[in-house]
Amino acid sequence: MKIYAIPLRNRFRGITVREGVLLHGAAGWGEFCPFSDYSDAESVPWLAAAVEASERGWPAPVRERVEINTTVPVVTPEKAHALVRASGCRTAKVKVADPRSSLADDCARVEAVRDALGPAGAIRVDANAAWDVATAVPAIKALDRAAAGLEYAEQPCPALDELAEVRRRVEVRIAADESIRRAEDPLKVAVAGAADIAVLKVAPLGGVRRALEVAEACGLPCVVSSAVDTSVGLAAGLALAGALPELGFACGLGTISLLAGDVSTGSLSPVDGQLPVPRHAPEPDLADAVAAPPELASDWRDRLARVRALS
Ligand SMILES: [Mg+2]
Repeated sequence: MKIYAIPLRNRFRGITVREGVLLHGAAGWGEFCPFSDYSDAESVPWLAAAVEASERGWPAPVRERVEINTTVPVVTPEKAHALVRASGCRTAKVKVADPRSSLADDCARVEAVRDALGPAGAIRVDANAAWDVATAVPAIKALDRAAAGLEYAEQPCPALDELAEVRRRVEVRIAADESIRRAEDPLKVAVAGAADIAVLKVAPLGGVRRALEVAEACGLPCVVSSAVDTSVGLAAGLALAGALPELGFACGLGTISLLAGDVSTGSLSPVDGQLPVPRHAPEPDLADAVAAPPELASDWRDRLARVRALS
């Protein structure tokens, strides 16, 4: 077992350090890294995903490479422009609706991203459920104008019926993320009608096989996204992206650049906006260099034991 703590380059989802546990088993390495706001019960599927990766491995892929989007945090337009240029990606996901950012700031960041990508690039925005319907509708319209066309808007509001209403009132496609991954039963979420696209994340859905079941059950085009995990967790996301019967959108698995380090020299950093589909996670040969301090490591061992007891 390896326990890591890696600073983020920019604050993301309100956190500045990413932490987690790497588990080793017969099939290789798996990552257990629920965010701190996830309860032990909510962390059970995260452990299932880590156990699948380390003990069982993943189903065979149907493609060798996956198109990747770059992710733009809440930064200045100049920084956003530079991040997108440096990424080499043709698709960018821009975080919006952050409490530290106004709609005008969001529009300026999106405009800078369009300038960096050129007219052929695709821009999607992610509001992480921060808006109500009355805020979401004009905001999405303004961002769509600033982007000269959005690919989709991800989780503008918290509730499914709100997503459905926003979807009726804007031209832009709506993607569901939190509605699926934080659902009581992701297999039963009636997301069709409320969204055009489903965002799938391996860890909160309980593994690659389980995420494939969710994809089939929801009946929507899917995008695979990361949990801002290390290359060990990203490998599981790529295994899912590699195994989905259809994949029409770039995936949010280019997030290793959000971390100031990684656990492996086999770091999964996109080249020309793509990543290969791995058969197993890379060896965490750098994990000791980013090891969590003893007290934090002890907290994680306790958390892991509690979640195991619930599994
Ligand atoms: Mg999201």
